[in-house]
Amino acid sequence: MADPKGFLTTGREVARTRPVEERVKDWNEVYVPGSLLPIISKQAGRCMDCGIPFCHNGCPLGNLIPEWNDYAYREDWTAASERLHATNNFPEFTGRLCPAPCEAACVLSINQPAVTIKNVEVSIIDKAWDSGDVTPQPPERLSGKTVAVIGSGPAGLAAAQQLTRAGHTVVVYERADRIGGLLRYGIPEFKMEKVHINRRIEQMRAEGTKFRTETEIGRDINAATLRKRYDAVVVAAGATVSRDLPVPGRELKGVHFAMEYLPLSNKVREGDLTVSPISAEGKHVVVIGGGDTGADCVGTAHRQGAASVTQLEIMPKPGEERAPHQPWPTFPMLYKVTSAHEEGGERVYSVSTTHFEGDEEGNVQSLHMIEVEFKDGKLEQKTGTERVLPAQLVTLAMGFTGTDRSNGLVEQFGLELDERGNVARDADFATNVPGVYVAGDAGRGQSLIVWAIAEGRSAARGVDRYLSGASDLPAPIRPTDRALTV
Ligand SMILES: Cc1cc2nc3c(=O)[nH]c(=O)nc-3n(C[C@H](O)[C@H](O)[C@H](O)COP(=O)(O)OP(=O)(O)OC[C@H]3O[C@@H](n4cnc5c(N)ncnc54)[C@H](O)[C@@H]3O)c2cc1C
Ligand code: SF4
Repeated sequence: MADPKGFLTTGREVARTRPVEERVKDWNEVYVPGSLLPIISKQAGRCMDCGIPFCHNGCPLGNLIPEWNDYAYREDWTAASERLHATNNFPEFTGRLCPAPCEAACVLSINQPAVTIKNVEVSIIDKAWDSGDVTPQPPERLSGKTVAVIGSGPAGLAAAQQLTRAGHTVVVYERADRIGGLLRYGIPEFKMEKVHINRRIEQMRAEGTKFRTETEIGRDINAATLRKRYDAVVVAAGATVSRDLPVPGRELKGVHFAMEYLPLSNKVREGDLTVSPISAEGKHVVVIGGGDTGADCVGTAHRQGAASVTQLEIMPKPGEERAPHQPWPTFPMLYKVTSAHEEGGERVYSVSTTHFEGDEEGNVQSLHMIEVEFKDGKLEQKTGTERVLPAQLVTLAMGFTGTDRSNGLVEQFGLELDERGNVARDADFATNVPGVYVAGDAGRGQSLIVWAIAEGRSAARGVDRYLSGASDLPAPIRPTDRALTV
């Protein structure tokens, strides 16, 4: 156990963020570098080692949280890193980006602020990288079997690393020009600097994983060729089709999907572009959609020098306390102030966009909206509540509808889809096609990084069993798992 009295003597303290006026002038992570390490051992010492650690169930990866809290409290960083990596291939991603459902399930949080589990996680892994504890782990011998992984997001990377370490020869195919999926193109640097992806890829290369970028399966290589070349395939192609808003004026210039807007800003940071062709500079920006993707648009627009930023959400404003139907240890829907929201802008709830208007050159100039309310489970417009917002840039961040069908990947493999349009799979993450497995958003639908890693690990076990007859790889989840509702 960490400190037996830690939770009585130490209050919760989290990573400090840099002042808003400083951080909106750059794209680096919002945290004060080095601010966590001096406080983190004491914070880890707040873990009660409560006997039945509900945080295990809150974390889709089943992270061994009390164990690494104990090591972090004792400042045995090498042992802490070893326990962390036992269940998570990429704690530097989750330690920065996870919404931390584990903390919602922390026993201490029943009547006190939860242990800062996510901050402990990121401190352990950052320390491990700095001290050289993260080294390549190549397999002792090769199986002679080959696996193609389609997609290099967290699901594909986790599956590839597990299968490579199990001795299979793994090639990751990625249609984009860089590896990382949404971690690379989508999530802004102020949430996670890309150095963290780059050094993991170096580690994976040293272990033997091969990467092929700018290769779209279905277009550049068809499914039949891939099947002939490899003994098994993992489809980790994400759920990249954005949900549209088919209202009058949608075709105007300046109305973009969030995923047209955000990756261009990532490309500026990578040095491929000097300025983004879709910039918020000097514009009134409206972001439609109140989730993570929307918040990323808000933070990006601030950094590009927007004149104003307004984020619209169709649902009512969530409460600041758990609702009775979301009791501990479930993950509650609460009002969140992300770092992007701290930086400014306005959030408007319970509104629906009716149409856009533009100027004579076809550029969007305004957004028309109306208040809405749920009545008997149906969304109704409230007459007389119409409002107009100035808008020269509108981003649509209303979620994703499923995996991309335009490249023929689904049809060429003959993959069955489930009722939600995701690739259907059995308990082993196997699709209807023998030897073809699916992991991450492609099978689960739009979700979270922690789920993508858990699915990649679990699918790898399914593939390993298919290729070898048995597997020692762990399978943290089954496809139907929901881990305390996240
Ligand atoms: C803007 C944004 C912000 C987010 N922020 C967070 C966050 O803060 N925390 C969090 O937990 N989650 C966040 N998410 C969700 C999270 O990023 C996803 O759930 C996660 O990345 C899914 O991983 P994946 O590996 O399944 O798919 P992806 O990361 O989508 O990767 C799929 C990859 O497959 C490639 N691909 C697709 N088809 C082919 C093909 N035919 N051939 C070759 N390659 C192909 C794609 O180019 C892509 O690189 C965010 C999502 C978005 C869009
Ligand atoms: S991966 Fe997410 S849920 Fe799991 S321990 Fe880390 S922050 Fe918590």
